[in-house]
Amino acid sequence: MKQTFSRRTLVSGAFCAVALIPALGVISTSEAAPALQPLDPSDPTAKSFGYLNDTTKVDASAYPSHKADQVCSNCAQFVAMAGAATGGCNVFPGKSVQKNGWCKVWAKKPA
Ligand code: SF4
Repeated sequence: MKQTFSRRTLVSGAFCAVALIPALGVISTSEAAPALQPLDPSDPTAKSFGYLNDTTKVDASAYPSHKADQVCSNCAQFVAMAGAATGGCNVFPGKSVQKNGWCKVWAKKPA
């Protein structure tokens, strides 16, 4: 059985398809980059890593290898977000950490 379509039907269908492309792009972008939730230092996982929002508050007796210039923003695990005081961290997926934060797995970001 042969089916035929009028030119109007084909053109109308093409416009609908093109109109949906931006909408699909928005959906996939929002799914790819969900908003990060601030990491709470009292969270059990954060505590186990010794995470604090302020590197100057680190207990030197508990973490003797800590140095004052070690902050999240110069850590290899930090994922910067332009213009933000926080960033992502590969150790804490889905969470944001303070640029001046610190935890015991800090490692210098390669130059
Ligand atoms: Fe900060 Fe690095 Fe620890 Fe993540 S791994 S919380 S960026 S010090």
